[in-house]
Amino acid sequence: MSKVFKQKEHLVNALTNIHCTIYQGEMVAIMGTSGSGKSTLLNMISAIDEPTSGTIFLFGKEANSIYKEPKASNFRKENIGFIFQSFHLLKDLTVEDNIALPLILQDIPSKDIEKRVHEMLEQLGIANWRKHRPHELSGGQQQRVAIARAIITKPPILLADEPTGALDVKTTDEILQLLVELQQNGQTILLVTHDPYVATFANRVLFFHDGSIVDSYQNEKTDADLDTILAKFKTITRGEQ
Ligand code: ADP
Ligand code: MG
Repeated sequence: MSKVFKQKEHLVNALTNIHCTIYQGEMVAIMGTSGSGKSTLLNMISAIDEPTSGTIFLFGKEANSIYKEPKASNFRKENIGFIFQSFHLLKDLTVEDNIALPLILQDIPSKDIEKRVHEMLEQLGIANWRKHRPHELSGGQQQRVAIARAIITKPPILLADEPTGALDVKTTDEILQLLVELQQNGQTILLVTHDPYVATFANRVLFFHDGSIVDSYQNEKTDADLDTILAKFKTITRGEQ
């Protein structure tokens, strides 16, 4: 798949002949310098934007029809959960209403919504905060709320763009542990990060540079992972590849 943007007088090759397979139930980290095409890839997978050329296969089938509205919106609603660095919670809504929002938008009976929200609050350890507003919570707690909102519809694909970028070290560990638990329960996760430590929590790492996948690494879940990822990332940022 390729994606070319027109910027005034010149063209930007945001993705150039990307070819990759993400397996169901896998957590894949996407690493790369700023401007290497990471967010563009997430936008292609979530049908927020369409490729200039190429084909997307979803659940084993050619699926370029997702790029046409109204299919794009429906596809997103049914298949994609998002989490972001800055949480993107609605500040005037309580924690439980923020979490419930995707279900409210789907016209689901309120009894069912209540039950699902309750399950999410328990699973993510934020039940005591249900009546609070986001600004009363720590960063880590806010990201838990955002994760609950992202997975309450049970989307097959969870996309995370720098989800720990605004968190301290200890909270980063807690959120990553949570994502690992979700993955171990079968959740497919794509995690964009520029932090080699964060990438060690994934099953596999894809390295992006200038719109291409230039390297990859399968984590072995040993101490060597961090060193290897760091070395590969350094090679890319030095432009040696
Ligand atoms: P990353 O997320 O890795 O930092 P992006 O995927 O956001 O990188 O961007 C890749 C390249 O495409 C960059 O050069 C960026 O300026 C360009 N780009 C991204 N979105 C647009 C857009 N909507 N219009 C024009 N250029 C864009
Ligand atoms: Mg980005």
